[in-house]
Amino acid sequence: MAHRINIHWFRQDLRLADNPALYEASGHHTILPVFILDDVNPGKHRMGAASRWWLFHSLSALDRSLDGALNLYHDDPIHVLTDIADRYQVDAVYWNRCYEPWQTVRDSKIKEVLKARGIRVKSFNGSLLREPWENVKQDGSPYRIFTQFYRRCYPKSVGLREPLPEPDNLHTHIDQGGRVRAESLGLIPLVHWDRKLEPHWRIGEEPARERLRHFIRKGLPGYRKGRDFPAGHHVSRLSPHLHFGEISPNQVWHSLGSQPEDEDREHFRSELAWREFSYHLLFHFSVLPDRNLQPKFDSFPWRDDTRHLEAWCRGQTGVPLVDAGMRELWNTGYMHNRVRMVVGSFLVKNLMLHWRHGAAWFNDCLIDADLANNSAGWQWIAGSGADAAPYFRIFNPVTQGHKFDPTGEYTRRHVPELARLPDKYLFSPWQAPADVLEEANVVLGETYPEPVVDPATSRQHAMEAFASLNKADSARPTREGPTEAIAGT
Ligand code: FAD
Repeated sequence: MAHRINIHWFRQDLRLADNPALYEASGHHTILPVFILDDVNPGKHRMGAASRWWLFHSLSALDRSLDGALNLYHDDPIHVLTDIADRYQVDAVYWNRCYEPWQTVRDSKIKEVLKARGIRVKSFNGSLLREPWENVKQDGSPYRIFTQFYRRCYPKSVGLREPLPEPDNLHTHIDQGGRVRAESLGLIPLVHWDRKLEPHWRIGEEPARERLRHFIRKGLPGYRKGRDFPAGHHVSRLSPHLHFGEISPNQVWHSLGSQPEDEDREHFRSELAWREFSYHLLFHFSVLPDRNLQPKFDSFPWRDDTRHLEAWCRGQTGVPLVDAGMRELWNTGYMHNRVRMVVGSFLVKNLMLHWRHGAAWFNDCLIDADLANNSAGWQWIAGSGADAAPYFRIFNPVTQGHKFDPTGEYTRRHVPELARLPDKYLFSPWQAPADVLEEANVVLGETYPEPVVDPATSRQHAMEAFASLNKADSARPTREGPTEAIAGT
């Protein structure tokens, strides 16, 4: 069948507005909108279960916006695209760029194959404020320190393009060939654990925009201080929408423009820039998800204790704020940033388990699981990253609880078996006198676990292990090379 079309390949840009590739592709042509579930190329960086659940609903929402014209496939994209090209006269394939190392390798191969067939490939920036290769120092090397990166690369909105509207008169084509139904993609779990996530989220482009509007009205005033309190309402919860591209960072950034200049807006911008920084690190240091950016951490004496790991994953460590966070994750697919830091520090420092275990569990359970942000977040917590928390910064889950959940609302919500404990002992039930425990109906070891490790002694062990690493490192001769250079910062 001879039918001249452009393909728009949706990837992490599941929206119609401010979608540069779609906007360009639809200029003069009929569009074949495709989404290809690629379970072949990601290898060990395969999408986790909670993200797959989100993706299913996001694709359904996008399909509705396209009046049922979204063509779905489940195969290696190179096969899908060449098969479509065999059946239609394809002028060009349009996409917005993705930045995970396996994606960039795959996409450049696909580009070559399509070009060899005389098909133009046009790629755009639809997921970041600036391309990672634009944000380099004067000598061409990448930034390793966030504050330098932020100050030099994100001065207000200079150079950021205005968000694009939805394309007018989108003429779409439905492929009668190899497309599949969303239900056959294997995104929805067979055992319906996903039902517990449903009440917490509205998925798709319109709900993302609504969430942003709501946040700007209600959450942004007071964001700088309020963002640290997990029971509060000062964070945007835009992260899954941003990950799947239901909204672009450009739309979010520009939507702040009409607000008066203040510390809340400035701080929110800096958080968006942390996302950019993670992508910057992943792009320039592709080992970020797999290897310590500071090689001295390769000799850290990580423990191998499946019982502790299991207790952490299930929110049964006996340390209330840690358990609250891990249960929030399990029950909602999300965890507040402050608590991500607390549970991360507990895993890596108190339990001395490798950060890769934490990253893997987060990848499976988070609806906003994102290779760049997740890897950078874990390396930051472990101290092994480019601009990481120093090793002696060990979050104390008891004082963090008193400081950031002062009324205990968050912890009681997620760990209801401790609901009746007075605030004084809520974050350290092991210190509560017997009559207080009895009054609150808490029997340690029965209704709620004893702590798997003593937070104070385990902290001490971790400090010693990290300090010995530093000594060994300073005694080591330095070598030239990119990762060695990071170690020096
Ligand atoms: P808001 O405070 O409303 O921030 C707005 C947006 O800014 C976020 O949606 C996000 O895109 C970006 N942002 C905010 N904080 C950070 C940060 N520290 N690093 C990078 N970007 C940030 N974020 C993910 O999107 N996916 C992950 O897989 C992920 N894993 C993490 C793992 C660890 C161990 C840690 C410490 C952090 C991780 N983060 C991750 C970063 C951060 O926790 C989340 O982006 C944030 O909690 C999302 O909630 P929000 O949208 O309400 O944030």
